[in-house]
Amino acid sequence: CGIVGYIGHREAYPIVLKGLQRLEYRGYDSAGIALYDDKELKVSKTKGKVADLKAKMESELDNTSGTLGIGHTRWATHGVPNDVNSHPHLSNSGDLVIIHNGIIENYESLKKELTKRGYKFESDTDTEVLVNLIEDVIVKEGVKLGKAVQIALNQTVGAYAIAVFDKKKPNEIVVARLGSPLAIGVGKDEYFIASDASPFIEFTNNAIYLEDGEMAVVRRSKGVKVRKIHDDSLVDPYVQELQ
Ligand code: GLU
Repeated sequence: CGIVGYIGHREAYPIVLKGLQRLEYRGYDSAGIALYDDKELKVSKTKGKVADLKAKMESELDNTSGTLGIGHTRWATHGVPNDVNSHPHLSNSGDLVIIHNGIIENYESLKKELTKRGYKFESDTDTEVLVNLIEDVIVKEGVKLGKAVQIALNQTVGAYAIAVFDKKKPNEIVVARLGSPLAIGVGKDEYFIASDASPFIEFTNNAIYLEDGEMAVVRRSKGVKVRKIHDDSLVDPYVQELQ
């Protein structure tokens, strides 16, 4: 399973697609990509290989433009491998888009609470519960996406590497890590996200490896802010030079 993301000035699609291919070695049963091009959110996902996803995307979409993109290879833990359970998952409003590797162990009780509050679920995944929990925090508390992710993650038990964005605020991607790897490639006015550095090594030698329990708000041309998920302290990120 794997995670890839891009935010910057280039076309995201080829970078994300190639990145997913580089992460195929990690094993997976399904794949998906979300792109945002300042007007439109485009999501394609499928059971099967990254090559199947490529074929589906290119037949389903009029174009694959967009300078923000995230991609996922899934190793199913909650819900069978099928198209609906594949990531990315959207929140009920359709604004928040998430990819997730790992397991949210207490998803059933969270799902019950959210169902009572009117949320509907299309998939059987724990991930769709998390994205709606984040949305519910935004609605209830009026906080920004980064804060909402932090509050939501503090209500979860489990393991994760996640990347999430809001199509209404397409200048940032929020990422977090607990128990699954996550690296941020730091370029010039562009940032890459991936489970390991292989998807972005051709673009930049500078990487921030998040530690367990850290999250980051990655802003288009504005830098990366890293903090601890559980105690809210800011972390001065160590930018490692890759050889
Ligand atoms: N638990 C999530 C799911 O089953 C993510 C699995 C993964 O790590 O790819 O959809």
